[in-house]
Amino acid sequence: MHPAISKILICPFCKGEKPILEPLFGHSLGGTLWSDTKTIYPAMPEISMVQRCPHCGKYYFAFNVESKEGDADSDDQGNLTYEQIKEAVNQYDQIVLEQEDEITLRLLFVQIYNDTFQREDVVHDAQPTADDKALQRKQVLRLEQIWDNAEDLLRAELYREIAEFEQATKILDALTIDMPFTEYMASRIRQLAESGQTYAFRITYKLTEEDFRDAEHQESESYIPDPSPKHIDEDSPF
Ligand SMILES: [Zn+2]
Repeated sequence: MHPAISKILICPFCKGEKPILEPLFGHSLGGTLWSDTKTIYPAMPEISMVQRCPHCGKYYFAFNVESKEGDADSDDQGNLTYEQIKEAVNQYDQIVLEQEDEITLRLLFVQIYNDTFQREDVVHDAQPTADDKALQRKQVLRLEQIWDNAEDLLRAELYREIAEFEQATKILDALTIDMPFTEYMASRIRQLAESGQTYAFRITYKLTEEDFRDAEHQESESYIPDPSPKHIDEDSPF
């Protein structure tokens, strides 16, 4: 377990306090990146951007609220369950949000939906109902509406994840392929769309120093990710 210090978030609705992990600077080695933008960096644990107040049960954006220094250790990241992100989306459906916050909220829904129902190499206990799928679809279409500078690769990927395969392919057809990474991603998304798959896929598995040697990671001229497991040891020193 990492030694962790806490900070305290103050709920904007009831002023209740929530001790939470204080995110520290770390490094991204050992990290895993997914096609729905989910990232896991074992050496740099992050808190959920949307937090649930343990006192009044409302949801707020972690980086928009008052906070103060905590006096006890906490390793709570405040990650939301699928039921909780549904509540959060409901809470904010009637409220006009800043664009950035709305993108955060709806993208988080997409990621937790994928955690729950459709992520590559993850065994899922649950199947999405028609209501779940409708809610997922609503988030993606809303993202498409408000996120004017979203990358086309991500737009195509999100359409694929809601089974809009033609739309996904259409975006890929219009894409400028200028780097190996773009080519890799586009062909993976296209291939999955053609076989009717909606799951979020792994882009890299446990980033190594080698992955960074070409510098700037995805920006690199020659960067092509290796999504296959490279290390057997799950207990890495990170
Ligand atoms: Zn509260």
